Amino acid sequence: MIPELTADNRRFWTGGADGRLHVPYCERCARWVLPPEAECPRCDGALGERAVSGEGTVFTYTVNRHPFNPAVPSPYVVAIVELAEQADLRVATNIVDCEHDSVTIGMPVTVRFEAQPSSGETVYVPVFAPLGATS
Ligand SMILES: [Zn+2]
Repeated sequence: MIPELTADNRRFWTGGADGRLHVPYCERCARWVLPPEAECPRCDGALGERAVSGEGTVFTYTVNRHPFNPAVPSPYVVAIVELAEQADLRVATNIVDCEHDSVTIGMPVTVRFEAQPSSGETVYVPVFAPLGATS
């Protein structure tokens, strides 16, 4: 699930070390951009980054019952979460810390991070839990 780290996406995948989700942001368009890219897809401007609130809603999801990876217990929930900051600002993720059959479209969620080693670095994979859930 973890992509190769590049200059464009490194901050997104490692920025969670401080507990916040850092998303590429175009100052010229005043828009966030996901997935991370080298330039703004609208104006070709340089992208900075800003921390978002980490809150959003489940845009769509599927429950995966097939154990593809022995390290990942099934069933688990694969979802697209739309971040609160901007319509169409969406991230592919997992929903955690809840029963898999309790997930619904539109459910409010908040970001958490799962630290995983990747090629000698630690990446902080953003996952989402129901707003108010305890881990
Ligand atoms: Zn732009």
